[in-house]
Amino acid sequence: MALTKTDAILLKKFNWSESSRTAVFFSRNYGKIALFDKGGRSFKSKRGRILPFSSLVITYYASNKESRGYISDIDITRSLSFDKEGTLGRLAYGSAACELLHSMLGEEEPNGNLYQYFWDFLVLVDTADKRSLPALFMAFFLRTMSLLGYHPNLEFCTVCSRKLAAELQPDQDENHALEQPDCQLSAQRGGLVCSPCQSVGDHYIPIQPESLRLLRALQSASLKEAATLPIGYSQAAILLDVLERLLKHSSDLGSRLKSLEFLEKLKNSNSMG
Ligand SMILES: [Zn+2]
Repeated sequence: MALTKTDAILLKKFNWSESSRTAVFFSRNYGKIALFDKGGRSFKSKRGRILPFSSLVITYYASNKESRGYISDIDITRSLSFDKEGTLGRLAYGSAACELLHSMLGEEEPNGNLYQYFWDFLVLVDTADKRSLPALFMAFFLRTMSLLGYHPNLEFCTVCSRKLAAELQPDQDENHALEQPDCQLSAQRGGLVCSPCQSVGDHYIPIQPESLRLLRALQSASLKEAATLPIGYSQAAILLDVLERLLKHSSDLGSRLKSLEFLEKLKNSNSMG
């Protein structure tokens, strides 16, 4: 069996027994890979631990059986602690990003750009002001969709190609806004459909002009820029709902991200401040 080495970030662990488990990584060179970790849970194990939210270098024996191989060694390059103010929120958003990638990445499809973007996102989740977390996560969600080929079209009608920017300016007065075509999103078409192009019986996802404006801003923002956008937890929940419904059509993301459900429960039971 060949010995292989790559940078990797842990996405998910499945424990099979007291001492063994499978770890699923997003690796820089090989994309998503599931590796068998025999004896890794044992206290006697001398190699580095498989820490979450960490930049790891994994060495493994590649195999063509059920799992992609066996972990031989782990080195930890950098581990993020998420211990600044708002730790639970940081953990929830970091976990949600891992969950999203676990469900969206194909097996062994390397994506160096997304790998680097994911790591940059995790570093910001560790260091940014906790009020930036919802906007950072939404920017990450949108970029991940784009880099994996689900780029939602938020500028043009996906049927008639009309540019829809002018109709949806945030500074429109209410009466004027009412005269404007009522755009909705289509998961099937992967973006906006203007009112005249909508057909009865097709399924659409309604979107408010304010949400559309924010999604457009997030779609073109770098992570640093996204961190400055004023998006609170409730606004992020609305945007997240829209994106999850868009994505349901084309990926394995069957239900809501569990890590964020946890965040919602937490917010309802006591204030996150
Ligand atoms: Zn149209």
